[in-house]
Amino acid sequence: MRVTIFGTGYVGLVTGTCLAEVGHDVVCVDIDAAKVDGLARGVVPIYEPGLAPMVKANHAAGRLHFTTDAARAVAHGDVVFIAVGTPPDDDGSADLQYVLAVARTIGQHLARPVVVVDKSTVPVGTADKVRTTIATTLAERGADIAFDVVSNPEFLKEGAAVEDCMRPDRIVIGADNPAAVEKLRRLYAPFNRNHDRIVAMDVRSAELTKYAANAMLATKISFMNEIANIAEKVGADIEMVRHGIGSDPRIGWHFIYPGAGYGGSCFPKDVQALAKTAQQHDYEARLLNAVEAVNDAQKGHLFELVQRHYDAGEDEGVRGRTFAVWGLAFKPDTDDMREASSRRLLQQLWDAGARVRAYDPEARHEAARVFGERPDLVLCDSAGAALEGADALIVVTEWKQFRSPDFAALHAALGDAVVFDGRNLYDPAEVEAAGLAYYGIGRGRSI
Ligand code: NAD
Repeated sequence: MRVTIFGTGYVGLVTGTCLAEVGHDVVCVDIDAAKVDGLARGVVPIYEPGLAPMVKANHAAGRLHFTTDAARAVAHGDVVFIAVGTPPDDDGSADLQYVLAVARTIGQHLARPVVVVDKSTVPVGTADKVRTTIATTLAERGADIAFDVVSNPEFLKEGAAVEDCMRPDRIVIGADNPAAVEKLRRLYAPFNRNHDRIVAMDVRSAELTKYAANAMLATKISFMNEIANIAEKVGADIEMVRHGIGSDPRIGWHFIYPGAGYGGSCFPKDVQALAKTAQQHDYEARLLNAVEAVNDAQKGHLFELVQRHYDAGEDEGVRGRTFAVWGLAFKPDTDDMREASSRRLLQQLWDAGARVRAYDPEARHEAARVFGERPDLVLCDSAGAALEGADALIVVTEWKQFRSPDFAALHAALGDAVVFDGRNLYDPAEVEAAGLAYYGIGRGRSI
């Protein structure tokens, strides 16, 4: 099938590449000419396990094309995906300007019937706006061409995006026209062989499904962070509690890890956008607002532990100290730092007069872009290099390579012999036995 994808970010590029991988003829279009140029030369602008070789192979095989030429792109596809960003507006609602700009572009160039697929995460009612925008633009041209607008939200996880796209748990298709559902069934047939993963529904339910999924996951995280904070107050170990509740199949093991707060380009903005949608429909989403508030506070929690430790000591607090920070990406296996907890932490450390030596396996370039050159930041090439001359270690992202450090070497390296473990990776007793003070989230000296 001939497929066009507007937007070559995490979602558009991965979707386009996976569709090409199963034999579809895909054109990816983006307004970012540098990105398109790079992709056409085999330079993949994001880190996603397995993505770069797949992009290159499918590009070389002639099934995956990159362009800035929107007219050519619209002419190509039988199915046209919208996979552009929906960042938060000032009031927390989703900013639809990019989605609606693509809708106008489609209306300007459309010459034959297509199915337009909304893959961006968009508030309920957006498919109607996309349909109206395309219809109005067609009418301005005096053109009368049939088209469908379908909601097909994306559930891939950054860090496992290719795997998720090739083996989806479910494929949600929201459509009013059965013929459009049938077309997407054919498009996704190669991903749907083992058993039927397609969940067809009406457009509005599909739009809400995406927000409900992210809001549920964010709620689990904020819930566990809240229990961890209570554990700190009452002297309980949150990891014991986690094991105690995860074994209940009604609760389950997934997404019950306390930590330094959720980040990324989806949970924070989607929880806020859903709350905003509710408000626009005269409903106050009290739970969603609390999920967001708990997360916002949690992003400052690691720094509170740092302050608590240093204010209790005889020296003059955090000012003048050097902190090794392991992990800058918002989660492992990605270079994405959008809304990452590390950003809040580093700013708090700098505001308090501390210096940072940071290491992230993949986000170094992104960190250089985000923070720029500054005297109180050294971006290091290895976890060991970050420890050189550091007083304390703060673990922010749970990359696998941080899981089993040599604690004796840590003790030798760290001037103040203290570890702040923002992801509860380590056994407090083992760390303390090596002569290091250990602070976790809801465990260790935090409690
Ligand atoms: P992104 O910011 O990585 O990429 C968006 C791309 O769209 C950019 O390359 C930008 O240049 C391009 N673009 C903007 N306007 C354009 C236009 N008029 N024509 C062509 N290209 C244009 O965004 P993303 O992370 O891929 O997210 C895209 C959407 O998917 C968002 O709505 C997001 O909420 C949703 N989503 C993201 C994820 C994720 O993990 N990143 C997962 C599921 C859903």
